[in-house]
Amino acid sequence: MALIVQKFGGTSVASTDRIKNVARRVARWKAQGNDVIVVPSAMSGETNRLIGLAREISAEPDPRELDVIASTGEQVTIALLAMAMHEEGLKAKSYTGAQVRVLTDSTFTKARILQIDDEKIRKDLAEGNVVVVAGFQGADENGNITTLGRGGSDTSAVALAAALKADECQIYTDVDGVYTTDPRVVPEARKLDTITFEEMLEMASLGSKVLQIRSVEFAGKYKVKLRVLSSFDDEGEGTLITVEEEKKMEQPIISGIAFNRDEAKLTVLGVPDRPGIAYQILGPIAEANIDVDMIIQNVGHDGTTDFSFTVNRGDYTKALGVLETVKTKLDARGVVGDNKTCKVSAVGVGMRSHPGVASQMFSALASESINIQMISTSEIKISVVIEEKYLELAVRVLHKAFGLDKAD
Ligand code: ADP
Ligand code: ASP
Ligand code: MG
Repeated sequence: MALIVQKFGGTSVASTDRIKNVARRVARWKAQGNDVIVVPSAMSGETNRLIGLAREISAEPDPRELDVIASTGEQVTIALLAMAMHEEGLKAKSYTGAQVRVLTDSTFTKARILQIDDEKIRKDLAEGNVVVVAGFQGADENGNITTLGRGGSDTSAVALAAALKADECQIYTDVDGVYTTDPRVVPEARKLDTITFEEMLEMASLGSKVLQIRSVEFAGKYKVKLRVLSSFDDEGEGTLITVEEEKKMEQPIISGIAFNRDEAKLTVLGVPDRPGIAYQILGPIAEANIDVDMIIQNVGHDGTTDFSFTVNRGDYTKALGVLETVKTKLDARGVVGDNKTCKVSAVGVGMRSHPGVASQMFSALASESINIQMISTSEIKISVVIEEKYLELAVRVLHKAFGLDKAD
């Protein structure tokens, strides 16, 4: 008998009919003798609707209260799912994150899971229940409700699988696995049977929202067997996230293309070229709680230099405000920004043993006259910042240039 954690995303529980489908699927796993923990998201669009309501009241809602409202979407689906399972003749019990308790830190809207109390869940499973636990949420040590960041139900599922030492964590979504790139942008994208943790981590951090990055980190750290599957198709094996050794010897050079639409670029022009400048610019940005992604300091001339970096588009206006103060302090020539940029990345562990991937990438982009504004590389990825209007074109061109549209 195996213990399986099954997470169902928003589209998989978008209506009562789909919820009934989920209950039927769970019933089949149960009938095969498995113990099942189910972790649903809110119905699709619901979390956005709830956050929208909060913003109608306040432009910058209090994060604690935002979590109180945002967490309610999942409270609806856990109860409906438990009821649908009762209709299937199953014993089932639902819990919110706080009831379990999923203990988190107090960073409202992006809390981290610290510990999960498995006592209630183990007891319920032993009594033959399917246990339904709300994704995306927990509670801090003072009992305040917290949420785990957008897409956080993936992380709830993996954390539960880790805490209960489940045999597998299955992430059911609206695509049948992890693809070489978002199949909604490139119809020729191919489903991968396996992808390494390392690559999945890069893909997730570079914008592929099929798995929340923290869920991949958790799975890697606690050795959770993690699989992405379709909730609409009963066949398929989905994509298994593997440790590298399990992969075939001959690695493809590039495994996938990831992209992130939400980048904005800022440049401080003509800052004095002297030690400490990066700190004087980025210190106040960090103090304003703005995460910085790529950074470029141009070669200086005449004792001054230009300093550019990217931030999440949602932080663009705030970052511009901070830089206006920095500009005066440093006596810089000016501040310019562009919030219509995006980031496209090629990811692959095979890159380690194949130099020349960067030039292949640049030549493919040049063939479509796409201008590269910034570049960053690591051992297993190359990212470029380009104008947002070229995003789809760039993803398609790179997907083809690296032969990802062709079967192995
Ligand atoms: P859920 O609501 O089930 O959590 P998400 O919308 O968060 O679903 O994630 C699934 C979506 O991720 C897909 O519909 C797809 O558009 C997108 N996606 C982005 N990159 C990839 C990729 N490489 N492979 C598969 N899906 C991807
Ligand atoms: N409902 C939450 C969101 O929309 C969590 C999730 O779907 O994973 O972000
Ligand atoms: Mg998701």
